[in-house]
Formats: sequence, structure tokens, C-alpha cells
Amino acid sequence: MALLADFAALCQRLARTPGRLDKRRLVADYLRALPTAEVGTAVAFLTGRPFPASDPRALKVRGLPAPRSASGGPPLTLAEVAAAFAAVAEAAGPGVRRLRDERLGALAGRASDLEREVLGRIIGGEMRTGVSDGLILESIAEACGADPSAARRAALLLGDLSAVAALALGQGADALTAAQSRLFVPLLPMLAELAVDFENVLAAHDGSTALEYKYDGARIQLHRDGDRVAVWSRRLSDVTRSLPDIVTIARRDLGLAPFILDGEVVALDSAGRPLPFQELMRRFRRVHDVETLMGQMPLALYFFDCLVAEGRPLIDQSYTARWEALVRVTGGRYLAERALVTSVEEARTFRSRALAAGHEGVVAKDPRSAYEPGGRGKRWFKLKAVETIDCVIVAADRGSGRRVGWLSNYHLTVHDDDRWADVGKTFKGLTDQEFAAMTERLWALALSDDGYTVRVRPEIVVEVEYNEIQKSPTYPSGLALRFARIKRIRDDKAPSQATTLAELRALYEKQFATKGRFARASDQSGPLG
Ligand code: AMP
Repeated sequence: MALLADFAALCQRLARTPGRLDKRRLVADYLRALPTAEVGTAVAFLTGRPFPASDPRALKVRGLPAPRSASGGPPLTLAEVAAAFAAVAEAAGPGVRRLRDERLGALAGRASDLEREVLGRIIGGEMRTGVSDGLILESIAEACGADPSAARRAALLLGDLSAVAALALGQGADALTAAQSRLFVPLLPMLAELAVDFENVLAAHDGSTALEYKYDGARIQLHRDGDRVAVWSRRLSDVTRSLPDIVTIARRDLGLAPFILDGEVVALDSAGRPLPFQELMRRFRRVHDVETLMGQMPLALYFFDCLVAEGRPLIDQSYTARWEALVRVTGGRYLAERALVTSVEEARTFRSRALAAGHEGVVAKDPRSAYEPGGRGKRWFKLKAVETIDCVIVAADRGSGRRVGWLSNYHLTVHDDDRWADVGKTFKGLTDQEFAAMTERLWALALSDDGYTVRVRPEIVVEVEYNEIQKSPTYPSGLALRFARIKRIRDDKAPSQATTLAELRALYEKQFATKGRFARASDQSGPLG
């Protein structure tokens, strides 16, 4: 039986122990001495969570209320605290606030001053013990004699430190190393590194690579077991409620459940052409009146990976084996367009097809590679066709963090007759040396300084890459660059040679040669309002 008093004493010692290694030892020793059934709860509490991370329950209270009455009695256990939290989370109906307060108040009444403080911190989500999730993972590894990398991998797969700890301390280091993905626990998606030519890609992939269209939509991860279906976004928010059409497809058209699929959704206009990303995000955010938007903006779905099929985890298998499983789950429908290529010519032909069909490029995947959750490396490359425009810097914000001392966030403009029209800001694309040199140049051009933003004479031209031109409600130009980054400094260009607003409008319009356009009722006056 684990006592709250011991847990509180541990927190107090952790707060007073500055060294990382000492903290790790304290946590490891504590976890090792706990009954296995209590480990998950203790880890959740240590990380300032009333419930384990993958448990959707929440307390919905601001803090620990004053004790109902000091009732004394036997010392509180962690299991009792967990049960009280569960009772608070489950409270419902009229007078729910009072009910929650009563339940927590009764708990507070049995707690010592130190225990009350610790309970308050768990509820507030801030332990102030200097124990991060990373340190907990190291402690779990130490407690069961495993490598920290095994604990980190298990955390990616299980999505929850409590589950990792329970596995490690209940079943040992080998079980931790063998941990596998679980249904309805989303995995971080595998990411792609930017590449510019196919020679390097083919070299990195030993002469053969799997090319897929790179769809400019939003990443989704789809889990199904029986009738239960869930969809997660790239950042692992649960978007199931916003995407009932995907849920229907999962139940109606896809087999071999339990499965986990990875893919991209793209929003379409009524003519079936892809809509800009901005529009798609409205679908992801919508939770009310989803049906209406669903009718106006259907989704196209492209799967490109299968992480579990028939309940069997596949992430350690090769891309080729996972693709075969994906074909079986989908029956060949809803798949990303792809080709296996062994030469630069074949690769270029495939990319031309992708671009001609209106997609942003291709992703090249090593056919022999495993799926690395959250990993970005040479196993997956993205190759895009990027457009650039030339902007003039008219102001810069003072840098913070790593960039302190530099002028680092540049206000980018295009030429609009005798004015400069703002179209975005960026602090991306320059090397440290270039930042330092740019800072000096900008100070020499300074016109005014409000302590945060320095306005400068419009003299420096930079070539800027971007992913998309969007409509902007904030900039008077009406347009904004999505993901702007500086490709190079164009000292060879005079500000008067920068891109004009008229040209940018034309580029914006050109996007719709391949992308669809979403027509709102209030948007009859043309794309730029
Ligand atoms: P980026 O966001 O530019 O780093 O590009 C990676 C993203 O491209 C992924 O996270 C996916 O959302 C998206 N994507 C589109 N098509 C594919 C594909 N066939 N394979 C992998 N990712 C894709």
C-alpha cells in the first residue's frame, strides 16, 4: 500500500534536491519500492496529472477546496486519492460543482498540511519539483535496469508515462524493450526530411525508392477496433468528432480491424479540386454543425502507411511489408498514388505527374525502412516544387531566446506603387553569421525603435520561399505568405525590383489553376474581397 505521506515527502525532497542524477535516483528508488498496481498512479501524480496522460478524464476544478472538516482517520493512500479523483471526474448532473467540492473537500479534510499542498499541485498541474517527463523516463529505465532509449521508444508507442512505468516495473526491462503500439493511443507521426535532388535520395535509399504524391492536406491517424473508431491530427488532437465522414469510411470500407492507418486528408471544392490548407483547418476545428460543412467541403483521403493490421503491430517491419498490409486493409482504395523507382529519370517523370495533378511534390521512402514514430530522417524525404518571391524588409523585431541580441523577425513586404505592403514575417532561413551581419545592416538603416520593433529604410531585398499564399484578414495587402523563409539575400536586386502586390495577387490566383476555391456566401466579390 502506497501512502500519500510518502509521496508528499518524496516531492519535498525532490524540490530540495538540485542535481538531476540525484533526482533520478530518488524517483527510481521510490518507484522500485512501490506495489506494481500503484506505479501508474504515482507516475501520473509525479508529472502533475490527476490521471494518466492517455486517460481522457479531467477534474474540472480550479484547485483543492478548504477541508470539509478535519476528520483524522487512517493515513491516506495513493489509491484512495486516485479513487477520489475518479469520483470527482465522474460527478454529473445538477449541483455538480457542489458535489465535486464535497468530494475533494473530504479528501482535504483527511490530509496533513504537506499532503494538502501536494494534492493542490497535482490538481493545478504544476508540481514544482523540477521533474520533467524526460527525467521520469530515465528514472523508469534506471528502476528496471533498462536503457533510457528503450523507455523513450516505449513512451512513443504507449503514449503515456504511466503505462511505460507499469510495464517496466511490472514485467521488467525486456517487456519494456518489446513494447508495441496500442490501439486508441496515437503515435507521433513519422516525418520527412527536405531533399532537393533525386540523386541523393536514390543514394541514401540504396538505389531504389518508393515515391508517393505529397498531398497538401492534413495528416491523420485512423484507429479502428470493431465499431470503435478514432481519428487524430498530426499534433495528436482527437479530431474524430469533426470528421464523421472519415469515421464512416473506416467502418464501411476498411477491413482487417483492429488497425491503425496513417494518411493525409485534403478538402475539396464542389468541383472536386483541392482547397487551400486554411479551409481544411476549418473542418478540423468544427465540432458543431459538422454535417453542413461536411456537405460543402468533402474530404479526399489518401493513406500511405499501416502501423497495425488485424491487431498485429507492424512498425518494425519494412515499408514494403507495411504497404502490402495497407493494400489488404483498404482493398486498394483511398491509397496515395505511388511508384517504385530506380532511376533519376523515372523519379522526375513521377514528380512531373504529381505537380501536374496539383500536388506540392513527392515523398520518397526507403522501401526497407521501419516506421519511426516522431522521427525525421533520411528514411523519408520530401521533395517539393517551391515558388519564391522577392520581398523588401521594412522592419525587424528583436530576437529572443537563442536569437537574443539579433534583429531576427523580419517584416516582409512587396511593392505596391509608392508603398510597401506587408505580406508576412519570418525568422527562418539565415545562418547565425548571416543573422549577425543582417542585424548590423538593419541597425544602420534604422528609422525608429519602440523597444521591440525597429523600423528600417526599405533597402534590403530577400528571396523568400513559401508554401502557399493565403488571404489575410490582418494585412492591408489582403495576402499573407504561409511558412515564409528566406532563401537568400538578394543584394543583386534593388527594392524597386521586388515582387509587386499585383504580381503576388496573380500568383495567388494561379494557385487556383490546380487548387479549388471555397465559396462562402459572403464571398461573392472575388477572391480578394
Ligand atoms: P512537411 O509538413 O512539409 O514537413 O511534409 C510532411 C508532411 O507531408 C507529412 O506530415 C504529411 O502530412 C504530408 N504528406 C502528404 N503526402 C504524404 C505522403 N505520401 N507520405 C508522407 N507524408 C505525406
